[in-house]
Amino acid sequence: TVRICLFTRDLRLADNPVLFAASAGGREAVVPVFVSDPAVAAAGFAAPNRLAFLHDCLANLDGALRERGSRLVLRRGSAAEEVARLVHDTGASEVHLAADHSAFARAREERLRAAVGGAGARLVTQEAVVTAVAPGAVTPTGSDHYAVFTPYLRRWSQVPQRRPLPPPRGLLTPAALASAPLPHRPPVDRLSPQLAKGGESEARARMRRWLDGHLDDYEDEHDTLANDLTSRFSPDLHFGSLSATELVHRARTAASPGARAFERQLAWRDFHHQVLAARPDAAHADYRSRHDRWRDDPAELEAWRQGRTGYPLVDAGMRQLSAEGWMHNRARMVTASFLCKTLGLDWREGARHFLSLLVDGDVANNQLNWQWVAGTGTDTRPNRVLNPVAQAKRYDPDGAYVRRWVPELARLSAPAIFEPWRLPSALRAELGYPAPLVALDAALARFRARRGVAA
Ligand code: FAD
Repeated sequence: TVRICLFTRDLRLADNPVLFAASAGGREAVVPVFVSDPAVAAAGFAAPNRLAFLHDCLANLDGALRERGSRLVLRRGSAAEEVARLVHDTGASEVHLAADHSAFARAREERLRAAVGGAGARLVTQEAVVTAVAPGAVTPTGSDHYAVFTPYLRRWSQVPQRRPLPPPRGLLTPAALASAPLPHRPPVDRLSPQLAKGGESEARARMRRWLDGHLDDYEDEHDTLANDLTSRFSPDLHFGSLSATELVHRARTAASPGARAFERQLAWRDFHHQVLAARPDAAHADYRSRHDRWRDDPAELEAWRQGRTGYPLVDAGMRQLSAEGWMHNRARMVTASFLCKTLGLDWREGARHFLSLLVDGDVANNQLNWQWVAGTGTDTRPNRVLNPVAQAKRYDPDGAYVRRWVPELARLSAPAIFEPWRLPSALRAELGYPAPLVALDAALARFRARRGVAA
């Protein structure tokens, strides 16, 4: 019999339990399929940077499948209808799929189950493909999810992990099946100029380089903005060109303090996924209500988007986002805190802008990190405010990150680069760099008044 392997965001051959089950380890005939579903764009999830990365992943996956005697069958349309059609055309008995837990993914799974069942086949889902630990696999007493990270991490660390599966050596795929062309790669003028290239081959090369060269330094280096030494695996994890399970396995094998710190970040990813799985509305609605009223100021929002707030570290982060479709985690925290807490603008505006550019843009990680920073999410200290000047002095002490991304300030050194508004006015005028949008003291007082917290 034939089985269908429906790829979604598990675009890899190494450690892919869905493909492994569908092909019975390479012994059974399998049809690898990807459906470009317009519903993804209609739900607001498509962004040019991610479409380009997806295109690279699909092209690479097709190539790797061809090397193994198979190929990727591409279809365009509703996933449920296209897969049901394939079941009909191939006489497939099973359709295999990675379980995924966003509201969108669950609705898609329900439609698939009905359509596939109607066509006479069975839908088989695999947990712990998108994340290392499945949402709901560990829960605290009396609740369906963890709302605090540290106890989650304790339980998460104890969940037994499967050994990563090898890529299949060969696959049997029926020959005569129509396939659509690869979904189109957006033209370069719609992409961030320094966008990373996608695909499992790139991802595995990146993984080997980084694990060999930087994993052990991760604990000391991951917050240093100028050194840029984090893994940059986030887009690969989002599209599944790397497996979270394999990364956890490799980190545990390395067992250094750096590896443990890295594993902890992977647990953050699973943590946010299990919150969203239990509270799908948290993609849009406050996870915890803080009775906040957000300000509405289109000019300030636009200055933030363009990296022209007058605060060098905020502007550096926002310009890195435009240039690369990616931003360092510390800069994400500082720019997000600046939007919601210093300017008092709605986290949803910031999350929307991030999602329009981030190549790793992910509903669980983006929305719930935004809520964490805004104080409407799972942060146990929801009223802390990151001071962009103090953060720059601590995490970019020489100003190298700011110099890289804000050319107007390239000739300044520390400490002048932290507070360019303190420079003599003639020099300031020469720089052509904006004055601060707001004074930090006044903004902090406004924030505290709104939240009803004492200074
Ligand atoms: P590393 O430091 O090398 O970490 C390894 C992996 O751990 C990452 O690839 C990522 O998968 C995971 N990870 C690390 N930090 C976090 C975290 N705080 N939350 C969840 N997972 C984490 N991450 C996304 O993948 N997609 C997003 O859309 C996203 N939006 C964010 C928005 C805001 C406001 C903030 C503060 C953070 C956001 N993050 C998001 C989390 C984090 O910034 C990125 O995962 C990280 O910067 C990616 O870089 P890296 O792969 O080099 O990370």
